[in-house]
Amino acid sequence: MEKTLSIIKPDGVKRGLIGEVIRRLENNKIKVIAIKMLHMDINQAQGFYAVHQERPFFKSLTDFMSSGPVVVMILEGDNVISKYRELMGATNYKEAAEGTIRKDFATDIEKNVVHGSDGPETASSEISYFFNTFEIAG
Ligand code: ATP
Ligand code: MG
Repeated sequence: MEKTLSIIKPDGVKRGLIGEVIRRLENNKIKVIAIKMLHMDINQAQGFYAVHQERPFFKSLTDFMSSGPVVVMILEGDNVISKYRELMGATNYKEAAEGTIRKDFATDIEKNVVHGSDGPETASSEISYFFNTFEIAG
């Protein structure tokens, strides 16, 4: 069964959207098999988004991601990587489809409420960035 990493970003946690995001996952038959809240420091945020280190938005993005607690989850299901990215909507909320999390709640291209892995290799490395085997149910 496919797995992916989901993060409810600091804006989502601050705005009280944890329950809303999880409700959408459950309504779409996506299973949560691991979950925890943590507050990344700047080095951990830079490590997580290392692929974007040459981008002009890297400093702002990693400052944002370390600005407050996040909720990290492992999701499991058939085609869950693309299914969850569909639920999230496009990176730029202005281009996101109706009814997606980002369309409904994002306020900014950066502050877009959720993260989801973009492929099997990133899913696997992002999962092990945050979770050890004892923390994963199912
Ligand atoms: P994520 O990796 O967070 O799930 P994504 O895969 O849709 O999002 P990426 O291209 O990987 O998008 O960008 C990572 C994150 O960097 C985005 O979710 C957003 O928070 C931020 N970001 C992306 N593009 C921009 C931009 N042009 N300006 C500011 N922030 C950006
Ligand atoms: Mg991405």
